[in-house]
Amino acid sequence: MTTKGLNRLVGKWQKRMRLQDWEIAAEFVPPGSLGDSVALAAVEPDYRTVQMKIQEDPPADVESHVVHELVHVRLWGWTAPNDREEGDINMLTVALVDAYRR
Ligand SMILES: [Zn+2]
Repeated sequence: MTTKGLNRLVGKWQKRMRLQDWEIAAEFVPPGSLGDSVALAAVEPDYRTVQMKIQEDPPADVESHVVHELVHVRLWGWTAPNDREEGDINMLTVALVDAYRR
């Protein structure tokens, strides 16, 4: 997938999650450059900007990573980063991706 394709995917889900008032940009980064993570989103709620980084050739499909990071953005301010949050966000990601694949 190209960076353009990635950002098209981000735009599609940004609309579905009603996050159009955020400026969200995504890019692929080399494997290993995010430490233990495969995808990360740097969220700046004051400016409503998000810089998303996804490892090239991620283990799960790119779309799931995009959705996962956007659920983080959607719930920003409602959740505190902890292990339980990740579990809930993974559950919501699977539910959303599955729902739109039907
Ligand atoms: Zn996460």
